[in-house]
Formats: sequence, structure tokens, C-alpha cells
Amino acid sequence: MRIYNTLSHQLEEFVPLDGKRVRLYTCGPTVYNFAHIGNFRAYIFEDLLRRALKYFGYEVFQVMNLTDVDDKTIAGSIKAGVSLDAFTKTYKDAFFADLKALGIEPAERYPAATDHIAEMIAMIRILLEKGHAYRSEDGSIYFSVSSFPAYGKLAHLDMAGLRPGARVKHDEYEKENVADFALWKAWDEKDGGVVWDSPWGRGRPGWHIECSAMAMKYLGESFDLHTGGVDNIFPHHEDEIAQSEATTGKPFVKYWMHCAHLVVDGRKMSKSLGNFYTLRDILGKGYVGREIRYVLMAGHYRQSLNFSFDALNAARASLQRLDEFQGRLGAAKAASPQPSPIKGEGGIRGKDGSSFAATAAGPRPASSLLAGEDGGEGVPLPEWAAAAKRKFDAALSEDLNLAESLGALFDMVHAGNRAMDAGEVSPQQAVSVMVLLESLDKVLGFLSKPEEVIPREAMDLLEQRQNARKAKNWAEADRVRDALAALGWVVQDTPQGPKLKRK
Ligand code: AMP
Ligand code: ZN
Repeated sequence: MRIYNTLSHQLEEFVPLDGKRVRLYTCGPTVYNFAHIGNFRAYIFEDLLRRALKYFGYEVFQVMNLTDVDDKTIAGSIKAGVSLDAFTKTYKDAFFADLKALGIEPAERYPAATDHIAEMIAMIRILLEKGHAYRSEDGSIYFSVSSFPAYGKLAHLDMAGLRPGARVKHDEYEKENVADFALWKAWDEKDGGVVWDSPWGRGRPGWHIECSAMAMKYLGESFDLHTGGVDNIFPHHEDEIAQSEATTGKPFVKYWMHCAHLVVDGRKMSKSLGNFYTLRDILGKGYVGREIRYVLMAGHYRQSLNFSFDALNAARASLQRLDEFQGRLGAAKAASPQPSPIKGEGGIRGKDGSSFAATAAGPRPASSLLAGEDGGEGVPLPEWAAAAKRKFDAALSEDLNLAESLGALFDMVHAGNRAMDAGEVSPQQAVSVMVLLESLDKVLGFLSKPEEVIPREAMDLLEQRQNARKAKNWAEADRVRDALAALGWVVQDTPQGPKLKRK
């Protein structure tokens, strides 16, 4: 697999530090509000990365932090007149619900900053001892940028213009303001009741130290991958590198990956510009999680992505096309005289009853099985599907070029539909393509489960039933309902209209 490393500005072969085990840190949400879908572009990119790594056989241990104390969370809790804990809990809960709605796989750990103050204090103590940090007049502790000659290596900064002695206390600032940044902020009235004891008096941590302390606690002093949106490169990730490497004397992270922004009319979607939609806003307009997931995933992660409702509608149409294809495969499979489970024991049986092997351990037919091109069940894939899988994998392994992988998927749908039109797809082949789709969905996460796909035939019958009911032709409506039942579907009348459910 090759990935683009922000540190080297190059595509590099991905070689984890520890065999097949990948340690991944992803900067999580600042829980002072509902995340907007720009934020979710970053989390979807990270989900794609995680799923692609697993698809290619790596074992992933991912940590995503929750920033539940910083300038913004404190200001929000004071304004709302509630404790910091109560304030951030609402948005933590909402965040996890949103991850679920978007089909984002859970990380292995979600550490919260407020549970790791002791680790941050321990790091700051070492930085002071080593001369990388100093105490200012107000009792705050600052990282001394000039003590770390490699400062600027991630953001590729020219440090020549650095103003000696300049300091910045805010968590967020621009490149033009490169300066010593706060590791520990002495309490002031803006912090209200948010305060911890430290060897340097009462106060609270700066934002950047939070991620360094939590990343190293769960992933070790050096680990493989660290990601975020491009706005994280400076100052957040630059500062993380400086304070982590100054503490340990070891390289902090091998590969840094950053996704480009989700934009609206050419401007970054952000809270401060007010041009944002939360996930709930869009769900409220009748779109569903997988449509939003599709939009956020379909472009290359390093290209900025323009958000529009046209894009959401196009995603809906693309997903419908995929559903229809899966429905047709289901029908082609059902034409089999033999039961042919996709999963489970028994596998797929040939006409003579010989097993085609459902598991890797089982026997395989001697025929044209090519490694990796059997959809995973031992039945050879038709060539149009095998070719699509090769292209899908090649594009994915080249810096997560999902746009091209999706192109391969839709080529497969086109070729597969033509083959099915011509009656060239055997039930066994249909199953092997369904199994292939199931494995591709480990990466995509937006395909329907085969059992959820409603075939066109059933959709047509549902429409006929509706028409019969409108015409008050109850006998016809009942006849159509029975026809649906014979296909294995029951109609449920819901406030949103009739829905088909598997019997
Ligand atoms: P925050 O909650 O502001 O710390 O941001 C959480 C994550 O969302 C970070 O990785 C940001 O880089 C990312 N992010 C924020 N806005 C956007 C956007 N418009 N497009 C893509 N990623 C974003
Ligand atoms: Zn971070």
C-alpha cells in the first residue's frame, strides 16, 4: 500500500513499525457543539483508512481522543451555565450516535482529555527538566520553540522570521504567529470553575499537549499513523511533534495523513463561518446516513470536496443502482435448484453434490480458480467481476483512491447487468459476486446487506398494491399481497407509507 505522507510531501510505501500491527491516532472532536459534516469528512476519511488497512490484512489499533477541555468547551459551558462535564456529555453522546448513523467503525479507544491530566502534567514536567519549556510571569508553562530545531518540519515552515520570545496562549493561531505555545495555562477568570492542581499552581492544559499525552499513553512513544484534517497540520500537529519528540528524544509518528476540507462555495465548512450543516440537519431533510457517507467518501481524500444537495441526490441514485444490482444477483441466485447459502456451512454445491468449499480449509474445484478472484467462496468469479476487483484493490492501495475504486465498482455493475440480461450468470456465479460485494463493503460500508435488498419484482408488486388500494380494489390488493408473500415479503403500513419486510 502506498500513502501520501505530509511529513515528506511524498507518496511512500506503507511499512508499519511492528509487522502487521498498525497503531493509528486520529484527532477527535472538540465536544462543544454538534460536529458538522465537514468534521465528518475527516472521520470518514479515517474510517476508510482503517477499513482499507484491515482489508489489506493489517491489524489496526485506533485511538480517537475527545477534546473535552479547551478554550471553546470552557467558554461554552460558562455560557450555558452548566458544569464542563455536563456540557460536553451532550455532545459526546451526540457524536457517538452520529458515528453510528454514518456507519463509521468504532475506534479501539476514545480517551477523554479530562481523564488524562496526570499524564499531561508528567510530560510537562519532563519538558521543563529538559529545558524545552519555561514558566511565564502569570504561572503558565510554555513550550520553547527555539529549543527544538526541527520545529516546522511538518508544516514546512520557514523559521527565519521567528520573533524571539513571542508567546501565544490561545489554542488556535495562524502560521504568521509562530510562537512559543502554552502547555499549561494558569487559571484566570475566563476558566470559571474548570481547574486542576499542578506543581506550578492551579490551571488547565493547553490543547496540543492533550493529544501527545493520550497518543503516547495508548500507542507508545513512536507509532505508525496520525491523521486529521489539513487545518490540523499547523499549529496542532506541528506542536504535537515538538513536545512529544522533545519529551522522548524519539520520532513521534512515522506517517502523517491529512484530508482536504469539505467546502461550501469554495470556503471551508466551519462553525466560525456559519456555513455548516450538522448530520442532524441533513437527516432532517430526509437523507439517510449511507447517502451522506457516500458523498463524503466518494472524492479523493486529498482533494477538497464541495458539499451540495445535488451531490446527495446523485449519491442516492448511485446507491439505488447498487441496490438494484444486488437485487438482480439475488434473483439470479434464487434461480438455483440447490440451496446456496452465502455464508455458513455447506458452501455451494455442484450439480453432482460435490462441495465447492465454503471455507478456505475445504476442497476447491481444480478448475479456473485464480488466487483472490473467487469472491471468497471457492466459485470462480466471472471475468468482469474479477477484473473489477483487481482495479478496485489497485486504486485503493494507491493512496486510498476510492474515486477510482468506485469507478471499478460501477464498471462491474454495468458489465454484470449486461451479463445477466444475456442470461450468462449462473446461480453459483451470482453467489460469488455477492460474496465479493460483501468483502468490498468491508471497505465501503454503504452497500445494503443482501437480505435487505428488495428485488425489482417485489417493488413493482408493492406499487401495484398501492394502486389497487387507491382504486379501492381490495380483492386485487389482497391478491398482490399474497403474491408478495409467495416471494417472501410482507407489507407493513407505516406512517411514512408501506414498507416491505422479509418474512
Ligand atoms: P475540531 O472538532 O474542530 O477539532 O475538528 C475535528 C476534525 O475535523 C479535525 O480533524 C479537523 O481537521 C476536521 N475538520 C474540521 N473542519 C473540516 C472541514 N470543513 N473539512 C474536513 N475536515 C474538517
Ligand atoms: Zn489532536
